[in-house]
Amino acid sequence: MEKFLEITPTSNVRIPNWKRAVIKVGSALVTESGRRISTKHMLPIASFITACRDQGKEIILVSSGAVAAGLSTQSRLATKQQKTIPEKQALAAIGQPMLMTTWSRLLDYTCAQLLLTYDDILNRKRFINAQNTLMELLMMKTIPIINENDTVATDELKVGDNDNLAAFVAVLANADLLIICSDIDGLYDADPRTHPDAKHISVVEAIDEKIHALAGGAQSKISTGGMRTKIQAAEKATSGGIDTIIMNGTKHVFFQMLLDGILCGTIFKRQQRPTVGRKHWMLHALPSAGSIYVDKGAAKAISTSGASLLPSGIVEISGDFQEGDAVFVYERNEDGAQRIAKGITRFRSTDLAKIIGKKSHEIPQVLDKNHQSDVVIHREYMVILNG
Ligand code: GLU
Repeated sequence: MEKFLEITPTSNVRIPNWKRAVIKVGSALVTESGRRISTKHMLPIASFITACRDQGKEIILVSSGAVAAGLSTQSRLATKQQKTIPEKQALAAIGQPMLMTTWSRLLDYTCAQLLLTYDDILNRKRFINAQNTLMELLMMKTIPIINENDTVATDELKVGDNDNLAAFVAVLANADLLIICSDIDGLYDADPRTHPDAKHISVVEAIDEKIHALAGGAQSKISTGGMRTKIQAAEKATSGGIDTIIMNGTKHVFFQMLLDGILCGTIFKRQQRPTVGRKHWMLHALPSAGSIYVDKGAAKAISTSGASLLPSGIVEISGDFQEGDAVFVYERNEDGAQRIAKGITRFRSTDLAKIIGKKSHEIPQVLDKNHQSDVVIHREYMVILNG
């Protein structure tokens, strides 16, 4: 553990110029042992934000710590190991204004509070509304401070962690940088707590299976605490064209270096051909309700010729989905099946099952219904993966 803390993962990597950043600050940085608010790390972070603002940059803060802050007022719950969901929600309701008051006191700018749920991201209308509010708040030169709306969000309504929430916010805000601050130095090629010679990784060009495995994916045992959600967040942000940095916010000197454009931590490079707007939302926010497997010819037409998906190329479907649901498209080949796209289907699974492999002119004979078109997933409603 000592070695882990001693490592100063500085490099000669420079951070690309940026104008608007989302900074995610984890509970470990705003609380003392997760039990009460502490300004120890908040103060240098606030100074960093102020310095960025003074340079003309825009900052949006995603701050955790509401539950922990609320805990300081409830001695009965402080020692209770397993708190119920309503207890945690009540603690968040108590702690959230305490968190806001502390940030407002430390920052030299007007702060504004936004509490979001997954529902606000999933529902495209609410997403756009939140985006409009955020843009207005930036125009008003405030510092928006965002947290999950824990009081109303239970499991199915929850983003669940502020790393992923921050990535959605970065996309929402059209940011060009996402900075995830926690008490870890970034990504290592093995868990530094159990592998003393683990090497720090400064730059990740693309997030692939190997990177997910390093963060404790299903295939790996070298899980680095809390890294999994950070990689998920980095994947969402970089695929939306946003550089993402994971850095150790307990090392205050790193903020000064960051101001000078020097990387301390791990940078995940933005994708050269980002998925933006509705397609990014479809890919990352919409849950998948099923899978459609296609033959090699259809896979090629989709991946390289910009074609829509037709029933004739489908070989199998799985899942119980409705018209308008998102589904993954897989290429079926001799190696098994590879995920190639995600899109919104125009057919429900029970209808689609009847027209697998059928030519377009056969569809009206099979489906006792006048389908306006034979297109299963229209090109405009499909995102090609790794394309
Ligand atoms: N919304 C939670 C809180 O403010 C934190 C969730 C997280 O840190 O991922 O306590």
